[in-house]
Amino acid sequence: MNTPPSPASPAFTGRGYDFVAALPAQNLIGGRFQAPSQPSGELPILNPRHGREMSRVLLSGAADVDAAVKAARAAAPAWAELPIRERALVFYRLRQLLVRDFEELAWLISHENGKVIDQARAEVEKAIECVEFGCSLPNLAAGTQLEVSRGVTCELTYAPLGVVAGITPFNFPLMVPLWMIPQAIVGGNAFILKPSEQTPLSAMLLGRLFAEAGLPDGIYNIVQGGRETVEALCDHPGIAAVGFVGSTKVAKLVYGRACAAGKRALCLGGAKNHLIVVPDADPDVTVDNIVASFTGCAGQRCMAAANLVAVGEVDDIIEAVCQKAAALSATEGVGPLTTDASRQRILSIIAQAEADGARVRVDGRGAASGEGFYLGATVLDGVDPGSRAAQEEIFGPVLSIIRVKTLEEAIKIENDNPYGNASTVYTTSGDVARLVMGRVQAGMCGVNVGVPVPREPFGFGGWNDSKFGHGDITGWDGFRFWTHVRKITTKWALQKDQTWLN
Ligand code: NAD
Repeated sequence: MNTPPSPASPAFTGRGYDFVAALPAQNLIGGRFQAPSQPSGELPILNPRHGREMSRVLLSGAADVDAAVKAARAAAPAWAELPIRERALVFYRLRQLLVRDFEELAWLISHENGKVIDQARAEVEKAIECVEFGCSLPNLAAGTQLEVSRGVTCELTYAPLGVVAGITPFNFPLMVPLWMIPQAIVGGNAFILKPSEQTPLSAMLLGRLFAEAGLPDGIYNIVQGGRETVEALCDHPGIAAVGFVGSTKVAKLVYGRACAAGKRALCLGGAKNHLIVVPDADPDVTVDNIVASFTGCAGQRCMAAANLVAVGEVDDIIEAVCQKAAALSATEGVGPLTTDASRQRILSIIAQAEADGARVRVDGRGAASGEGFYLGATVLDGVDPGSRAAQEEIFGPVLSIIRVKTLEEAIKIENDNPYGNASTVYTTSGDVARLVMGRVQAGMCGVNVGVPVPREPFGFGGWNDSKFGHGDITGWDGFRFWTHVRKITTKWALQKDQTWLN
């Protein structure tokens, strides 16, 4: 039975950009919202639009992770016993609740992360799409059966791993957890989420909705925290698998630590996405698309445009990109960065690019004063391919333009970067599109699409330094990641004159 949501479960009342305080972030363990028992520290959660503390988060230690594992382990067997269709039914109900509470979710995301409300609404829509994929899993997991020889069948079935964990970044506090949760929970597991300590609140609202949707206590748990919490999750012997989404540096650490502890791990990292523009590109499509890609969510998307590789004479397109970007309001169009630390880091990258000889054609630094962590859209032209602005993930509304003479040079620059998340070409030529799509080192590619996120049911995942582990995190690969495949060979009619071969 579910316990009713405890009084500490969140209800967020903000419906505009005015400052609103929220309840403190809490853990959700065995169906009860609660503070960590032995916190290792405490952090403020700042509203990025106002630079003011809207809530606080206590950082959980190993004892809290252990409590979450115990609650999850207690709940997991009964959940795993249910037919998969019954497990998926919870997600049908969750979908309706996400639709019902759409505005509350969107405004909470907008307040804790800073993204403008339209982008926050887009995040909730994409989160709903992930839940819909979860609803479809009973059909996809129907399995395969074949009579491999007379009277003998082989069959595949999927068994849960038990207790599993997900660790997520600050930039999509609702959608990224839902990249993992439907596949893991419909697959029969009990899940422990460690949200970003910068944006820990949306995960709690999701907990409230799960309880209302009828998910048994202990199947969706939350431990709030940072590095120490993550390390405890990686080390805990009661956790069978870890999914991670965040920066490359931490993805590598988590992958190594979880694998060393004998766990299954899939860790998505950072990105530096290249957009190649050739002279035959359609100007209208290209310009709108590039600006939306590098400024959407204030550039805090792992699929955002980072480097524009301009091949030959494309000055009219670049000029129009600059004009459109300069016209965007930093407050209403771009939105603030989530932290001031991020803004300060990006300001130093822009200053260094300028010192290295790049031209700041659109300068968003004027917005970086007053309250809130704003930085306007910024375009750097003539960026050296070896410089920090071209190499490092900036994760802000900054576009670095690298000029080259040929398509070969553009592809080489793309291939030389260690990341492999996304890559796009803008062209009206099928030949150019085919050539680039066949050669770039990226897992998610676009032709005239600036944010080539594969929509469900296609899986999300990059290559190279953008992912450690095998397979994609969403789609069918996600279900396979969170489950064991059992191969069952059956022979009922025992015939003495036959071996297993005939
Ligand atoms: P981050 O790596 O700093 O944090 C991600 C998670 O790891 C958080 O929950 C955090 O608490 C934890 N963490 C941070 N430092 C840690 C450490 N030293 N040891 C263990 N755990 C630690 O990432 P972020 O700043 O929250 O998010 C932005 C990054 O995420 C960007 O690099 C972005 O490209 C990436 N990202 C990638 C994808 C993708 O699909 N590839 C999607 C979204 C975001």
